[in-house]
Amino acid sequence: MTEIQQNLQDILNALPEKVTLVAVSKTKPNSDIMEAYNAGHRIFGENKIQEMVEKYESLPKDIQWHMIGHVQRNKVKYMADFVSLIHGIDSFKLLKEVNKQAKNSKRIINCLLQIKIAEEDSKFGMTADEATEILQSKEFSELKNVCITGVMGMATFTDNQEQIKKEFSFLKATFEKLKQLNSPNFKPETISMGMSGDYNLAIECGSTMIRVGSSIFGERNYQ
Ligand SMILES: *Cc1c(COP(=O)(O)O)cnc(C)c1O
Repeated sequence: MTEIQQNLQDILNALPEKVTLVAVSKTKPNSDIMEAYNAGHRIFGENKIQEMVEKYESLPKDIQWHMIGHVQRNKVKYMADFVSLIHGIDSFKLLKEVNKQAKNSKRIINCLLQIKIAEEDSKFGMTADEATEILQSKEFSELKNVCITGVMGMATFTDNQEQIKKEFSFLKATFEKLKQLNSPNFKPETISMGMSGDYNLAIECGSTMIRVGSSIFGERNYQ
C-alpha cells in the first residue's frame, strides 16, 4: 500500500457511514489521483476549472468530479458536460449560468449554496437570508437543469476551535432552516464542511461531506 492509499484508508476507517469524503487533488499529478483511484476512491475535488477539465480528460470516466473552488461564470461551460457537484454557488447569477450550460449539455447539475460563515472578508459566499430568498423565488423554481442539494461553508483559518465550532454550527442551523423550504429543484441532503485541519470538528457539528486534501496527498507546493 502506498502512503496516499494508507492515508485514505485511515481517514475512511474513522469516518461515520453517512459522511462522504471528497479527496481534494488540486495541484496534485494524475499519478497521485490514480493511487487513490486504485484503492477504490471515486470522488475527487478540484478548485480550478481548467485543471479539473485536464484531469477529467485524461483519467477514468467513472470519477465523480466536484468543483469546490470559486466559479467564474464564463468558465462554467467547460465543466457542464461532466461535473458531478458544484460546491461554490455564491449568487443567483451564477446559478442561472449553470442552469443554462447544464441545459446545453442535456443534464441536471447538482449544486450547493456556499454560505459565508467565516469572519474573514476573503471568503466567498452568501448570507442565510440571500439563500432563503433564492430558494423561495419563482425564478429559481423554474431552473429545471439545476438541483440544489445542500450547503457548503469554509470556516475561518484560525487555531481557535471555539470559533470554528461556532461557524460550523451556524452552517448546520442554516441548513436545517433552509430545509423547511419547498421547491421541485431543492433536495437538501448535503452539508459540505470540514477540511484536513478541522474535519473531525465539522463532523461533530453535523457535516455530511468533508473535503480533504493535504491529509491524503501531502502538503501542496504552489510554485
Ligand atoms: C484546498 C481546499 C480544501 C482542502 O484543503 P486541505 O486543508 O488540504 O484538506 C477544501 N476545501 C476547499 C474549498 C479547498 O479549496
